[in-house]
Amino acid sequence: MVFNIDMKTILIPVVLGNIFIIIYIMAYRFDHKMDKSINMFATSKVLELIAWSLVALRGVIPNFISISIANSIALLGVSFESIAILMLINVFEKNIKTIYVFLTIVMIFIFNCITVFYNVENIRISVISIFIVLLIAFPGFCLMKNKESSILQRIMGSLCCLVIMILIFRAFIAISPYKYMTTFIKGIYETGSLTLISMLMMLGLTSTGFVILSKEQIDLELVKLASTDELTGILNRRTFINGAKRSIAYFVKKKEPISFLLVDIDNFKTVNDTYGHNIGDITLRDFADKTKEQLREYDLFGRYGGDEFAILLLGSDKDDSYNIAERIRKTIEESSTNECVTVKYTVSIGIISMIPDEKTDIAILCKLSDKALYKAKANGRNCVVITNLNTP
Ligand code: GH3
Ligand code: MG
Repeated sequence: MVFNIDMKTILIPVVLGNIFIIIYIMAYRFDHKMDKSINMFATSKVLELIAWSLVALRGVIPNFISISIANSIALLGVSFESIAILMLINVFEKNIKTIYVFLTIVMIFIFNCITVFYNVENIRISVISIFIVLLIAFPGFCLMKNKESSILQRIMGSLCCLVIMILIFRAFIAISPYKYMTTFIKGIYETGSLTLISMLMMLGLTSTGFVILSKEQIDLELVKLASTDELTGILNRRTFINGAKRSIAYFVKKKEPISFLLVDIDNFKTVNDTYGHNIGDITLRDFADKTKEQLREYDLFGRYGGDEFAILLLGSDKDDSYNIAERIRKTIEESSTNECVTVKYTVSIGIISMIPDEKTDIAILCKLSDKALYKAKANGRNCVVITNLNTP
């Protein structure tokens, strides 16, 4: 039977596997020292390597070291590994750190009390299995249930659930009255479950999984950096235009209206000249934040350049878009920036609203809404002007 192998045989690939992961991660760390999740992961792998090595030396070194110290270090390692995964998928917060530190200390304490006062291997196996379940359950849950979980994250989450089920099964078998379980006696339950757990954890979750997940996170970060405006955090011009092209094509098929808004801050040069460029930046951010709050999740909002912003309202006709634009204009007029100094400012908005057809393109929309914006400026600023396709 494939899982009916000697525990020490299993430990050889586990220890070797850990050594290679550590070598690779240390090499990566050499160039990316600032990456906290990688540092945490590398530490967890070193701890797990020490733990597995001590377990492998059972019989050669004193039992106290091979059992008590090894399992305590293993718990610490699994805890660090869980934290590393949580850091990588950005769900790690200070209170989670406190909970993990507390949980790990309590677990190590309980485990050592058991080895001192009630040193029965079955109980130890059961307890350590449940403790590991408690440590990996949260990252597993987050990988599966995170709102923005990728397919990779879901697969890793499923693998984590599988490991949890095997661990619970192992914990249950270990304390069932029909079975005497030890780590070093060959058997389908004894070594079989441990083989599965260590292989799944090692090959699936940690080595390959973590490394590819960190690559995925870096890619996401790069895409975000390349698609957003650094100052305001909203879409940059290129991403806005690409998104708008896709949305317009979709609304051509749907035969429903869209509205394109160009928004420009009034007398923005004066804001810069009066308060300085920094406050000017704060004003631009303030406008982006307040406007975002007025829009629906599926509307497109981007910085077109300087103090000019573009909005594509999907499914909104003339009246809707005028009302939304007025709401934005009023919100800005009635509020002020509240960082550093109070700056009151206003905006002018030009709108073109239409049911798009195959000929509609973003350049036309931009040109027409720019004309409307020009009129709004000419009308004395702080107002909304809507234009028709046929308006000269
Ligand atoms: P109008 O009402 O006609 O729009 O007048 P205006 O003064 O706002 O004129 P305009 O829109 O042409 O001015 C844009 C100014 O925005 C000029 C430029 O110095 C400033 N600007 C462009 N980008 C930034 C930026 O990233 N930060 C800051 N602080 N200012 C910027
Ligand atoms: Mg302006």
